Amino acid sequence: MFDVIVVGGRCAGAATALLLARKGFKALVVDKARFPSEIPPGHFIHRQGPRLLQRWGVLDIVRSGCPPVTRFTTDLGDFPLTGINLVRDGVAFGYAPRRGKLDAILIEAAIKSGAEFRDGFSVDDYTFYDATVMGIRGHSYKGGPTVGERAQITIGADGRRSSLARAVGAPRYEEIPPLACRYFSYWSGAGLDGLEIYLREARRLFMRFRGDTADPDFRGLSVRWLLKLHVSAFLECMPEFAALPYDRYHTAWQKLHGLCHCCSFL
Ligand SMILES: Cc1cc2nc3c(=O)[nH]c(=O)nc-3n(C[C@H](O)[C@H](O)[C@H](O)COP(=O)(O)OP(=O)(O)OC[C@H]3O[C@@H](n4cnc5c(N)ncnc54)[C@H](O)[C@@H]3O)c2cc1C
Repeated sequence: MFDVIVVGGRCAGAATALLLARKGFKALVVDKARFPSEIPPGHFIHRQGPRLLQRWGVLDIVRSGCPPVTRFTTDLGDFPLTGINLVRDGVAFGYAPRRGKLDAILIEAAIKSGAEFRDGFSVDDYTFYDATVMGIRGHSYKGGPTVGERAQITIGADGRRSSLARAVGAPRYEEIPPLACRYFSYWSGAGLDGLEIYLREARRLFMRFRGDTADPDFRGLSVRWLLKLHVSAFLECMPEFAALPYDRYHTAWQKLHGLCHCCSFL
Protein backbone atom coordinates (compact mmCIF):
# COMPACT_ATOMS: atom_id res chain seq x y z
CA MET A 1 0.00 0.00 0.00
CA PHE A 2 1.44 3.36 -1.07
CA ASP A 3 0.53 6.84 0.08
CA VAL A 4 0.47 7.96 -3.51
CA ILE A 5 0.71 6.44 -6.98
CA VAL A 6 1.74 8.73 -9.83
CA VAL A 7 0.82 7.54 -13.31
CA GLY A 8 3.34 8.98 -15.78
CA GLY A 9 6.98 9.59 -14.88
CA ARG A 10 8.08 12.48 -17.09
CA CYS A 11 8.45 16.13 -16.09
CA ALA A 12 5.08 16.40 -14.28
CA GLY A 13 5.04 12.95 -12.71
CA ALA A 14 8.70 12.76 -11.71
CA ALA A 15 8.65 16.26 -10.20
CA THR A 16 5.46 15.48 -8.26
CA ALA A 17 6.90 12.23 -6.91
CA LEU A 18 10.17 13.95 -6.03
CA LEU A 19 8.40 16.59 -3.95
CA LEU A 20 6.07 14.09 -2.25
CA ALA A 21 8.89 11.67 -1.46
CA ARG A 22 10.93 14.49 0.07
CA LYS A 23 7.97 15.21 2.35
CA GLY A 24 8.13 11.61 3.51
CA PHE A 25 5.26 10.09 1.51
CA LYS A 26 5.62 6.58 0.17
CA ALA A 27 5.35 7.17 -3.55
CA LEU A 28 5.18 4.85 -6.55
CA VAL A 29 5.67 6.20 -10.07
CA VAL A 30 4.81 4.09 -13.10
CA ASP A 31 5.31 4.82 -16.77
CA LYS A 32 4.62 2.66 -19.78
CA ALA A 33 7.67 4.09 -21.56
CA ARG A 34 11.18 2.76 -20.99
CA PHE A 35 13.55 5.33 -19.50
CA PRO A 36 15.53 7.16 -20.66
CA SER A 37 13.66 7.80 -23.89
CA GLU A 38 12.95 10.73 -26.17
CA ILE A 39 9.56 12.30 -26.87
CA PRO A 40 8.92 15.14 -29.30
CA PRO A 41 7.25 17.83 -27.17
CA GLY A 42 8.86 20.07 -24.59
CA HIS A 43 12.18 21.39 -25.76
CA PHE A 44 12.70 24.65 -23.96
CA ILE A 45 12.60 25.22 -20.21
CA HIS A 46 11.98 28.84 -19.39
CA ARG A 47 9.82 31.14 -17.22
CA GLN A 48 9.73 29.53 -13.77
CA GLY A 49 11.27 26.25 -15.00
CA PRO A 50 14.99 26.93 -14.44
CA ARG A 51 14.34 28.38 -10.97
CA LEU A 52 12.27 25.38 -9.96
CA LEU A 53 15.01 23.04 -11.14
CA GLN A 54 17.45 25.03 -9.05
CA ARG A 55 15.18 24.87 -5.99
CA TRP A 56 14.90 21.09 -6.39
CA GLY A 57 18.70 20.79 -6.60
CA VAL A 58 18.88 19.41 -10.15
CA LEU A 59 19.73 22.48 -12.24
CA ASP A 60 23.47 21.81 -12.11
CA ILE A 61 22.95 18.34 -13.59
CA VAL A 62 20.55 19.65 -16.25
CA ARG A 63 22.96 22.34 -17.39
CA SER A 64 25.99 20.10 -17.59
CA GLY A 65 26.44 19.71 -21.35
CA CYS A 66 23.49 22.05 -21.96
CA PRO A 67 24.59 25.68 -22.25
CA PRO A 68 22.38 28.43 -20.85
CA VAL A 69 20.19 30.45 -23.21
CA THR A 70 20.77 34.09 -22.27
CA ARG A 71 19.80 35.79 -25.51
CA PHE A 72 16.30 35.92 -26.98
CA THR A 73 15.28 37.44 -30.32
CA THR A 74 11.65 37.94 -31.30
CA ASP A 75 10.79 39.11 -34.79
CA LEU A 76 7.07 39.58 -35.36
CA GLY A 77 7.53 40.96 -38.85
CA ASP A 78 8.21 44.59 -38.01
CA PHE A 79 11.69 44.50 -36.48
CA PRO A 80 13.77 42.03 -34.45
CA LEU A 81 13.85 42.69 -30.70
CA THR A 82 16.73 41.08 -28.84
CA GLY A 83 17.19 40.66 -25.11
CA ILE A 84 20.74 39.90 -23.99
CA ASN A 85 22.43 38.77 -20.78
CA LEU A 86 19.17 37.24 -19.53
CA VAL A 87 20.54 35.86 -16.29
CA ARG A 88 19.16 36.41 -12.78
CA ASP A 89 20.85 35.22 -9.62
CA GLY A 90 23.06 32.93 -11.71
CA VAL A 91 20.07 31.27 -13.40
CA ALA A 92 19.69 31.77 -17.14
CA PHE A 93 16.44 32.66 -18.89
CA GLY A 94 16.26 29.19 -20.39
CA TYR A 95 17.80 25.78 -21.02
CA ALA A 96 17.05 23.34 -23.81
CA PRO A 97 18.01 19.81 -22.81
CA ARG A 98 16.67 16.82 -24.71
CA ARG A 99 13.55 15.46 -23.02
CA GLY A 100 15.14 12.08 -22.54
CA LYS A 101 17.85 13.74 -20.47
CA LEU A 102 15.56 16.04 -18.48
CA ASP A 103 13.05 13.32 -17.63
CA ALA A 104 15.82 10.92 -16.61
CA ILE A 105 17.38 13.51 -14.29
CA LEU A 106 14.04 14.22 -12.63
CA ILE A 107 13.12 10.58 -12.14
CA GLU A 108 16.61 9.82 -10.76
CA ALA A 109 16.15 12.64 -8.26
CA ALA A 110 12.74 11.24 -7.29
CA ILE A 111 14.23 7.78 -6.77
CA LYS A 112 17.06 9.23 -4.68
CA SER A 113 14.44 11.01 -2.59
CA GLY A 114 12.78 7.67 -1.85
CA ALA A 115 10.17 7.18 -4.59
CA GLU A 116 9.84 3.80 -6.29
CA PHE A 117 9.84 3.87 -10.08
CA ARG A 118 8.66 1.21 -12.51
CA ASP A 119 9.19 2.00 -16.16
CA GLY A 120 7.74 -0.16 -18.89
CA PHE A 121 4.64 -0.51 -16.73
CA SER A 122 1.35 0.29 -18.44
CA VAL A 123 -1.73 1.13 -16.39
CA ASP A 124 -4.74 -0.64 -17.90
CA ASP A 125 -7.43 0.49 -15.46
CA TYR A 126 -8.15 1.85 -12.03
CA THR A 127 -9.72 0.29 -8.97
CA PHE A 128 -12.52 2.19 -7.29
CA TYR A 129 -14.27 2.22 -3.93
CA ASP A 130 -17.54 3.99 -4.70
CA ALA A 131 -16.39 6.98 -6.74
CA THR A 132 -12.91 7.12 -5.22
CA VAL A 133 -9.87 5.77 -7.04
CA MET A 134 -8.11 3.29 -4.77
CA GLY A 135 -5.28 2.19 -7.03
CA ILE A 136 -4.15 0.91 -10.40
CA ARG A 137 -4.05 -2.30 -12.40
CA GLY A 138 -1.52 -2.79 -15.12
CA HIS A 139 1.16 -4.94 -16.65
CA SER A 140 4.83 -4.70 -17.52
CA TYR A 141 6.02 -4.14 -21.10
CA LYS A 142 7.05 -7.75 -21.31
CA GLY A 143 3.37 -8.67 -21.26
CA GLY A 144 3.57 -10.01 -17.75
CA PRO A 145 0.58 -10.78 -15.55
CA THR A 146 -1.79 -8.08 -14.37
CA VAL A 147 -0.47 -6.41 -11.23
CA GLY A 148 -2.53 -4.32 -8.82
CA GLU A 149 -1.24 -1.58 -6.50
CA ARG A 150 -3.19 0.44 -3.98
CA ALA A 151 -2.72 3.96 -2.63
CA GLN A 152 -4.50 6.67 -0.69
CA ILE A 153 -4.22 8.98 -3.67
CA THR A 154 -3.63 8.29 -7.35
CA ILE A 155 -2.30 11.17 -9.45
CA GLY A 156 -2.63 11.33 -13.21
CA ALA A 157 0.52 12.75 -14.82
CA ASP A 158 -0.12 10.68 -17.90
CA GLY A 159 -0.28 13.42 -20.48
CA ARG A 160 -2.89 14.97 -22.69
CA ARG A 161 -4.89 11.79 -23.23
CA SER A 162 -4.89 10.91 -19.54
CA SER A 163 -6.61 7.60 -18.87
CA LEU A 164 -7.09 8.62 -15.24
CA ALA A 165 -8.91 11.81 -16.27
CA ARG A 166 -11.16 9.69 -18.48
CA ALA A 167 -11.74 7.11 -15.73
CA VAL A 168 -12.98 9.73 -13.25
CA GLY A 169 -14.89 11.68 -15.90
CA ALA A 170 -12.84 14.85 -15.37
CA PRO A 171 -14.48 17.78 -17.13
CA ARG A 172 -12.84 19.08 -20.30
CA TYR A 173 -12.58 22.81 -20.72
CA GLU A 174 -10.89 25.45 -22.89
CA GLU A 175 -10.53 22.93 -25.68
CA ILE A 176 -9.33 24.36 -28.98
CA PRO A 177 -9.11 22.19 -32.08
CA PRO A 178 -5.63 22.01 -33.64
CA LEU A 179 -4.89 25.15 -35.65
CA ALA A 180 -1.39 24.35 -36.84
CA CYS A 181 1.24 21.67 -36.87
CA ARG A 182 4.93 21.69 -36.02
CA TYR A 183 8.03 20.15 -37.52
CA PHE A 184 11.34 19.95 -35.80
CA SER A 185 14.82 18.68 -36.29
CA TYR A 186 18.22 18.91 -34.61
CA TRP A 187 21.20 20.36 -36.42
CA SER A 188 24.75 20.84 -35.41
CA GLY A 189 26.74 23.86 -36.57
CA ALA A 190 23.76 26.18 -37.00
CA GLY A 191 25.71 29.07 -35.48
CA LEU A 192 22.85 30.10 -33.21
CA ASP A 193 23.27 32.11 -30.08
CA GLY A 194 20.17 31.83 -27.92
CA LEU A 195 16.49 31.54 -28.84
CA GLU A 196 15.15 33.14 -32.02
CA ILE A 197 11.47 33.31 -32.96
CA TYR A 198 10.20 34.58 -36.30
CA LEU A 199 6.50 35.12 -36.94
CA ARG A 200 5.15 35.65 -40.43
CA GLU A 201 1.40 35.60 -40.99
CA ALA A 202 0.21 32.33 -39.51
CA ARG A 203 3.68 30.73 -39.53
CA ARG A 204 6.28 30.66 -36.85
CA LEU A 205 9.87 29.56 -36.92
CA PHE A 206 11.63 28.75 -33.63
CA MET A 207 15.35 28.24 -33.47
CA ARG A 208 17.11 27.28 -30.32
CA PHE A 209 20.66 26.85 -29.32
CA ARG A 210 20.81 23.49 -27.70
CA GLY A 211 24.43 22.63 -27.11
CA ASP A 212 24.07 18.87 -26.95
CA THR A 213 24.24 18.28 -30.66
CA ALA A 214 22.51 15.60 -32.63
CA ASP A 215 22.30 14.56 -36.21
CA PRO A 216 19.51 15.87 -38.38
CA ASP A 217 16.58 13.62 -37.84
CA PHE A 218 13.66 13.76 -40.19
CA ARG A 219 11.86 10.54 -40.81
CA GLY A 220 8.98 9.89 -43.14
CA LEU A 221 8.50 11.23 -46.62
CA SER A 222 5.21 12.89 -45.86
CA VAL A 223 6.69 14.93 -43.03
CA ARG A 224 9.61 15.90 -45.21
CA TRP A 225 7.37 17.09 -48.00
CA LEU A 226 5.08 18.94 -45.65
CA LEU A 227 8.10 20.66 -44.20
CA LYS A 228 9.37 21.57 -47.61
CA LEU A 229 6.08 23.21 -48.50
CA HIS A 230 5.90 24.94 -45.17
CA VAL A 231 9.40 26.43 -45.30
CA SER A 232 8.92 27.54 -48.90
CA ALA A 233 5.76 29.33 -47.89
CA PHE A 234 7.54 30.83 -44.89
CA LEU A 235 10.37 32.17 -46.97
CA GLU A 236 7.93 33.73 -49.44
CA CYS A 237 6.63 35.83 -46.55
CA MET A 238 10.13 36.59 -45.33
CA PRO A 239 12.56 36.93 -48.21
CA GLU A 240 15.11 38.69 -46.02
CA PHE A 241 15.56 35.46 -44.09
CA ALA A 242 16.85 33.71 -47.17
CA ALA A 243 19.38 36.52 -47.51
CA LEU A 244 20.98 35.93 -44.12
CA PRO A 245 24.73 35.18 -44.20
CA TYR A 246 25.31 32.06 -46.21
CA ASP A 247 27.72 30.38 -43.84
CA ARG A 248 25.40 30.91 -40.90
CA TYR A 249 22.52 28.83 -42.13
CA HIS A 250 23.38 26.99 -45.28
CA THR A 251 25.57 24.27 -43.82
CA ALA A 252 23.03 23.34 -41.23
CA TRP A 253 19.87 23.77 -43.24
CA GLN A 254 20.98 21.91 -46.30
CA LYS A 255 20.99 18.84 -44.08
CA LEU A 256 17.22 18.93 -44.05
CA HIS A 257 16.85 16.40 -46.80
CA GLY A 258 15.33 17.85 -49.90
CA LEU A 259 15.26 21.45 -48.74
CA CYS A 260 18.39 22.63 -50.49
CA HIS A 261 16.63 22.01 -53.81
CA CYS A 262 13.57 23.86 -52.66
CA CYS A 263 12.66 26.93 -54.70
CA SER A 264 13.78 30.14 -52.93
CA PHE A 265 15.51 28.19 -50.19
CA LEU A 266 19.07 29.46 -49.80
C1 LIG B 1 4.84 20.27 -30.06
C2 LIG B 1 4.97 20.67 -28.61
C3 LIG B 1 6.04 21.45 -28.21
C4 LIG B 1 6.17 21.84 -26.85
N1 LIG B 1 7.23 22.60 -26.50
C5 LIG B 1 7.38 22.98 -25.21
C6 LIG B 1 8.51 23.74 -24.79
O1 LIG B 1 9.38 24.09 -25.59
N2 LIG B 1 8.61 24.07 -23.47
C7 LIG B 1 7.66 23.69 -22.55
O2 LIG B 1 7.80 24.01 -21.36
N3 LIG B 1 6.58 22.94 -22.92
C8 LIG B 1 6.43 22.58 -24.20
N4 LIG B 1 5.35 21.84 -24.59
C9 LIG B 1 4.43 21.36 -23.54
C10 LIG B 1 5.10 20.21 -22.78
O3 LIG B 1 5.66 19.31 -23.69
C11 LIG B 1 4.08 19.47 -21.92
O4 LIG B 1 3.45 20.42 -21.08
C12 LIG B 1 4.80 18.42 -21.10
O5 LIG B 1 5.43 17.46 -21.92
C13 LIG B 1 3.80 17.70 -20.24
O6 LIG B 1 4.54 16.80 -19.46
P1 LIG B 1 3.82 15.67 -18.64
O7 LIG B 1 4.85 15.04 -17.76
O8 LIG B 1 2.58 16.23 -18.01
O9 LIG B 1 3.28 14.64 -19.72
P2 LIG B 1 4.04 13.82 -20.82
O10 LIG B 1 5.38 14.40 -21.12
O11 LIG B 1 3.05 13.68 -21.94
O12 LIG B 1 4.26 12.40 -20.11
C14 LIG B 1 3.19 11.56 -19.84
C15 LIG B 1 3.76 10.20 -19.53
O13 LIG B 1 2.67 9.37 -19.09
C16 LIG B 1 2.90 8.07 -19.59
N5 LIG B 1 1.63 7.35 -19.67
C17 LIG B 1 0.54 7.70 -20.39
N6 LIG B 1 -0.44 6.80 -20.23
C18 LIG B 1 0.06 5.84 -19.38
C19 LIG B 1 -0.45 4.63 -18.86
N7 LIG B 1 -1.69 4.21 -19.16
N8 LIG B 1 0.32 3.88 -18.05
C20 LIG B 1 1.58 4.30 -17.73
N9 LIG B 1 2.12 5.44 -18.21
C21 LIG B 1 1.38 6.20 -19.02
C22 LIG B 1 3.52 8.28 -20.96
O14 LIG B 1 4.29 7.12 -21.34
C23 LIG B 1 4.39 9.51 -20.74
O15 LIG B 1 5.74 9.17 -20.49
C24 LIG B 1 5.21 21.42 -25.91
C25 LIG B 1 4.13 20.63 -26.33
C26 LIG B 1 4.02 20.25 -27.66
C27 LIG B 1 2.85 19.39 -28.07
